Formats: sequence, structure tokens, C-alpha cells
Amino acid sequence: MSKSVKEQMQEMKEESLSCEDCEKLVRTRTQVVFGAGNPESSLVFVGEAPGENEDIQGKPFVGRAGQLLDEILKETGLLRDEIWITNIVKCRPTKLNESTGRLSNRAPLVGEIKNCQKWLEPELSLIDPTVIVCLGGPASSAIIHKGFKMTQERGQWFTDTIYAPFVIAAYHPAYVLRMHGASFDKSRQLLVDDIAAAKQKAIDEKGQPKMTLF
Ligand code: SF4
Repeated sequence: MSKSVKEQMQEMKEESLSCEDCEKLVRTRTQVVFGAGNPESSLVFVGEAPGENEDIQGKPFVGRAGQLLDEILKETGLLRDEIWITNIVKCRPTKLNESTGRLSNRAPLVGEIKNCQKWLEPELSLIDPTVIVCLGGPASSAIIHKGFKMTQERGQWFTDTIYAPFVIAAYHPAYVLRMHGASFDKSRQLLVDDIAAAKQKAIDEKGQPKMTLF
């Protein structure tokens, strides 16, 4: 009997946990943070990389940005268990903060993003989603096209990627959290709107082959 998508994803996750392809990341990570949620969902969210909380807990989007994402998912009628959430890079990229002596987050390097495609590509291929929401610029550049411009291309539908029939870019919740006052309200609302549009698109396209409910 052939293995279910859930079983295959679990095997992929277990295999990824011992990955040591990125020398710098392996030195400081606590663990590999693989995607989580429902691997049979038609709707997938892809962020940048784990941060401190994710690195400790081994789950994607569990820090402050994750809490904001949960809040917005709830507002748009979605639950984490219904969707799949992952990152383009699965180990926490860090740099040493000279003044505090502590590690802080940094953006993943091009080589790290490239290395981690060995997990992202089969992960997305196994799920075969109808809609992908790229959270932030690095995920959008990796999935939609190189040099993606969030200011100009956010909220548009892209139908020519290899990963899903419909891909949209939205602000990363961590970016929204860096805003204040009216800018925070505006960027938060745009994130709500983009996620709501993605949910609607997944519902509208439900008749497509290989489509499963959330
Ligand atoms: S970031 Fe990805 S490719 Fe690099 S060590 Fe971690 S799991 Fe492996």
C-alpha cells in the first residue's frame, strides 16, 4: 500500500532534522524547523526563516510574528491545523550582537536559501497546493521571481510559478510589527486582505484536480 501524504511528509521532516548543509547555521541552531500543519491543505504559507522562539520550540511562526499571524488567520476564518506553514530556510540564521554578546536574527544568505531548496521543493511538491502566500520579500523572491519588489508587486496574483497555480505575496507579520500608529494599522489591514484573498482563491478553485479542502 502506498504511503499517505502525511506519512511521506513525516519521513521528509525526520530526514531534514539531520541536515548539515549550511555550515554557519548548523553551528548556532538548536534544531531544524520544518513546516507544520495539514500537508493535504490547498493553502500554504511560506515565510523567511525561523527566529529565536521557532529555533527553541522547533515550530514555524511561534514568536510575536506567529502570534500576529494566528490573530489574522482567526480573523479570516482559518486555523493553523487546516493550512501548512513553512519557511524557505529551515534553520535560524544568526549574527553575534557585539554590544550584548547575544545572537540576533539576520536575513538568510543566498547560498542558504539555495541549499534549503532541497527541502522546500519536495515539501511543496508533495503538498501540491492550489494557493501559496509568500510572507515577505525573501520568500517572494525565492518562489515568485528574483528581485521581487514588495512595494510594487504585493497583493497581485502570479500564475506562472512552478510551485502552485496561484501565488500571492503579502507582508511578513514581523514587518508589520515594526510599524507604528497608522502605518501599523494600514500594513496589518493589507496582510488581512491578502490572506482573505488567498483563502477565497483556494475556495473558488476547489474544483481543480488534486485539490483538498483546507
Ligand atoms: S537551512 Fe536547510 S539546507 Fe541549511 S542546514 Fe538547515 S535544513 Fe539544511
